[in-house]
Amino acid sequence: MARFTLPRDLYHGKGSLEALKTLKGKKAIVVVGGGSMKRFGFLEKVENYLKEAGMEVRVFEGVEPDPSVDTVMRGAAAMREFEPDWIVSIGGGSPIDAAKAMWAFYEYPDVTFEELCIPFNFPTLRTKAKFCAIPSTSGTATEVTAFSVITDYKKGIKYPLADFNITPDVAIVDPALAETMPKKLTAHTGMDAMTHAIEAYVSTMHCDYTDPLALHAIKMISTDLISSYNGDMEARGRMHNAQCLAGMAFSNALLGIVHSMAHKTGAAYTGGHIVHGCANAMYLPKVIRFNAKEPAAAARYAEIAKSLDLAGETTDALVTALIEHIKQMNRALDIPACIRDYEGGLIDEKEFMEKLPSVAELAVGDACTGSNPRKINPEQMAKLLKCCFYDEEVDF
Ligand code: FE
Repeated sequence: MARFTLPRDLYHGKGSLEALKTLKGKKAIVVVGGGSMKRFGFLEKVENYLKEAGMEVRVFEGVEPDPSVDTVMRGAAAMREFEPDWIVSIGGGSPIDAAKAMWAFYEYPDVTFEELCIPFNFPTLRTKAKFCAIPSTSGTATEVTAFSVITDYKKGIKYPLADFNITPDVAIVDPALAETMPKKLTAHTGMDAMTHAIEAYVSTMHCDYTDPLALHAIKMISTDLISSYNGDMEARGRMHNAQCLAGMAFSNALLGIVHSMAHKTGAAYTGGHIVHGCANAMYLPKVIRFNAKEPAAAARYAEIAKSLDLAGETTDALVTALIEHIKQMNRALDIPACIRDYEGGLIDEKEFMEKLPSVAELAVGDACTGSNPRKINPEQMAKLLKCCFYDEEVDF
């Protein structure tokens, strides 16, 4: 038996933010991040639409990037005090992810963070509130997924929470919000979405319900991401839909080791973070080469290449064409080929090599490794990460 879960309603297209007027309830809390949604006037619009729906509205502001357990607890306390029957979260991945965790602590004050960290172990939600998510970036697709990432800064660890209980009830995918993204964020979040779609398509958990979503998302992202990056707002709007389709696929098919590696290298080094989407973009060509040693995975990558009309007579040639296609996209998006070239050498070579065995071990243990189409051990993972550092060929 397998399960396929999506939001009950998804509103899309320009102006779809107005769908908030149709929500039925008494009180709504709006969870939002830094200042951009306020600055561009979207927060005010959200508040006004909810008031038009007849609701009393309160705003919980200031969710930081990579939201903390502390922020989650503060938000949950605000919810327990206000008692909303709608949680409306708006912004990039962070405020939406934080609001998902707040929701659980609002409905179950006695649940512990440790309990929520166990995959698919959430208590039954929707006893107090429903959840609406409105993304302003085109990548994480948290508006349609069963996932949330919360950081415990005391332990220095990012915890991925996973449960279909936190798949939102309503998603509003309005391209007007994505128009506010700066160029670099457009590139990084776009390649995150591309990685979601490709990893979902080759995942061991893929199925007839996730395949068409993943494949169509890959086509759209191939067509539209570079134009969107270069300021074409029609393409930006299509990317907003494409990343959401990719999210529907991976929320149900899960991911693979590109994400395992991005999760565990993201905050491991003193020089600074390797941004999630950029890490995925750099690692994806290497992981395709590694996974393609497994014939079933190679056949899946070849199907992707064919659907993109890439040239190649054999499976091997098609896999190579797909790798080259990803590399070309990265170049057009000003994404470096390897970690050594990331942000002018932000990550120290010596530190990277010293931490390689432990990072490799952690990456193998990441929740995303289980659905990768080829098995991997810590020694292979260390070699693969080294290839990602120096841009070396993967031949094992
Ligand atoms: Fe991702």
